[in-house]
Amino acid sequence: MRRKLAAGNWKMNGLSAALTEIDGMQEAADGASEVLLCPPATLVAQAAQRAGEAIAVGGQDCHAQASGAHTGDVSADMLRDAGAAYVILGHSERRTDHDERDEDVRDKCRAAWEAGLTVVLCCGESLAEREAQNTLDIIGGQLAGSIPDGATGHNLVVAYEPIWAIGTGKVPTTDEIGEVHDFMRARLERRFGEGVGRSVRLLYGGSVKPGNAAEIFAVSNVDGALVGGASLKAADFVPIIEALN
Ligand code: PEP
Repeated sequence: MRRKLAAGNWKMNGLSAALTEIDGMQEAADGASEVLLCPPATLVAQAAQRAGEAIAVGGQDCHAQASGAHTGDVSADMLRDAGAAYVILGHSERRTDHDERDEDVRDKCRAAWEAGLTVVLCCGESLAEREAQNTLDIIGGQLAGSIPDGATGHNLVVAYEPIWAIGTGKVPTTDEIGEVHDFMRARLERRFGEGVGRSVRLLYGGSVKPGNAAEIFAVSNVDGALVGGASLKAADFVPIIEALN
């Protein structure tokens, strides 16, 4: 049985004052679903202290090396040391802003696993790729290229995030989400075996809001959501957590 997961990605938002939002999420986080918050790296340690047991904390990226001359980067060990249990890897904003390719994401994933972190691996197609009916090819390629051997239901979560749905208010139809999630499940089962393939949680991400969460969570093989904008405020994130509980 896969435990549902409501994951928040704060992106490059939030000073320490924003951590008070965590207090307002605590009660909802005591429900059946797991709750994860990924604040900017500067807030990971404080967020982990404040979040306590009910809310897990993660980073938004890590370097592929454990340490060394990489000014400005953060290693998986550093995230773990700061209290993180998860790290988001391969987000489309990293793939675009930092030219991250599947091979880079795969190397980071190995480093994260080495440090004991669970990876939330992001994949998703652009609007042009969807319009050209290449969505499943793109997703299949990203999964094959970005996930190293050795995935388990414990060390990997996959988030399907159509690029055109992130921060735009546009959301695929539930049939479109279901098609991609069923495809991802089949691909994971084929590569890692049925047991592992069935145990990896699959999140949908892209303009999830309190008003559309329940409908998205009813889609087969959707085990939760990766939420950007609507995870910044408890008033928005709590109804999403509750829709999952
Ligand atoms: C995201 O960036 O992971 C995301 C899903 O953003 P939003 O919910 O704001 O579309």
